[in-house]
Amino acid sequence: MSTTELSDLIRNIPDFPEPGIQFKDITTLLNNGVAFKQTIDLLVTRYAERKLDAIVGVESRGFIFSAPLAYALGVGLVPVRKAGKLPAATYQVEYELEYGSNKLEIHRDALQPGARVLLVDDLLATGGTIGAACKLVEQVGGVVEELAFLIELTFLNGRDNLSRYPIYTIVQY
Ligand code: AMP
Repeated sequence: MSTTELSDLIRNIPDFPEPGIQFKDITTLLNNGVAFKQTIDLLVTRYAERKLDAIVGVESRGFIFSAPLAYALGVGLVPVRKAGKLPAATYQVEYELEYGSNKLEIHRDALQPGARVLLVDDLLATGGTIGAACKLVEQVGGVVEELAFLIELTFLNGRDNLSRYPIYTIVQY
């Protein structure tokens, strides 16, 4: 299955969750077994030889892709979660959204110092979410090797805020 075919399986929902936002609905890709497997296989092929020490998944749709990737590579999975969800001692970072702000957390002991980390989320929009996750990874001593996403909304120029990091995206709009 080509990346164009993967792209065709992602559904556009206009005005969700609010007017003016075109939501990229990945459930129509996930419920296609060939497409889901192809997506994970693309990531596995790209990262198999990269000697990663950890995969960081960003709550919540990032978990859908980070968990099978970590499993396939035999590499540990570290969750970055919304505030108040992680049970042990955490670091927290607050970042601005289009409306209001959001808080993400990581366990303070989640990574070994110098760990080579790949961060995974479903979609790169403005880059605020993944930028906050990178800060947390660095705070606990990790080294960001790359950021991986299924989808990139190129017109939002998220890459401009993340120029320190290599970025891989499978489907671009
Ligand atoms: P950002 O922080 O602006 O890069 O936004 C990325 C996060 O918001 C990701 O975790 C996405 O799941 C979600 N997101 C932002 N825009 C959209 C969109 N148009 N469709 C689906 N999810 C989105």
